[in-house]
Amino acid sequence: MRLFCLLGTVMLACVMASVLAVDVAHAAVPAGVRVVRQDIRPGGFWLAEVPSGSAVTVANRPVPVVDNRVLVGFDRFAGPRVWVKICPPTPTPCGVQTLVLEPRTYATQNVKNIAKAHVNPDPVQQARMARDNAATAAARRAAMAATIRPAAEAGVGFAMPFVQPAPGAVTGVYGSRRAYNGQERSWHKGIDFANPTGTPVVAPADAVVRLARDTFMSGNLIMLDHGAGLTTVYAHLSRMDVQPGQLVKAGERLGAVGTTGRSSGPHLHWGMYWHEVAIDPAGWLPPRRPANGVARNP
Ligand SMILES: [Zn+2]
Repeated sequence: MRLFCLLGTVMLACVMASVLAVDVAHAAVPAGVRVVRQDIRPGGFWLAEVPSGSAVTVANRPVPVVDNRVLVGFDRFAGPRVWVKICPPTPTPCGVQTLVLEPRTYATQNVKNIAKAHVNPDPVQQARMARDNAATAAARRAAMAATIRPAAEAGVGFAMPFVQPAPGAVTGVYGSRRAYNGQERSWHKGIDFANPTGTPVVAPADAVVRLARDTFMSGNLIMLDHGAGLTTVYAHLSRMDVQPGQLVKAGERLGAVGTTGRSSGPHLHWGMYWHEVAIDPAGWLPPRRPANGVARNP
């Protein structure tokens, strides 16, 4: 009998623990939280207005609140649930927004006709790549350090509707595993738009230019800082027409499409990062409407 009681107590404790976990996950969302835009799947994001003076955390990590707006990005492997804890100023209690991510699968894409050096770089090229990566990381750190800025300041565009930075057919999508000349490498962190060399590339939203650099793998590479930890990159450009520190407005020219770096033909590689997490730019664009009428992002 005592053994049954002990088992019963353990089971009750387990049930209580799971009920408590559910309670935490479904704590009421504070009044005043309003979704601005979202793409609730791995690689997506959640952009919302929160009550003035709120503190926001995800997995106990503070997330900057800029002009009462908060941006949360999800990595390629995120989910199935993400909990955003929102604490308005006292006496309003904290609430939790539960985001249930749609499952997502990724294909493998083989890219052919890549120069051998860009698949198996030699030690000199690897050293150059290390310098490129350090410069890119420093630019991204500078963007992250500057997250607390009023949106009224020029160059903070994360809350704006985004425009597509270049026209063209989508030839590469976010998240796909990539093989170059048949050798598998890491996954694809962005979207590719194919277009002839010289096609203008424009800023999708207001930003500060953080980097404009000739790199080994990404070719001519520009990084924009849109505020709230959101940065975008433009790779393989044939030319760069902006300088680090420059403010750019949505639609302003950054450079032109090219095929510099590890590239098999003229295209724009457009990447997006929430802090250091590579997210999918597709969810930031208006849905595409193909002939069958079904709205779909690339
Ligand atoms: Zn690409």
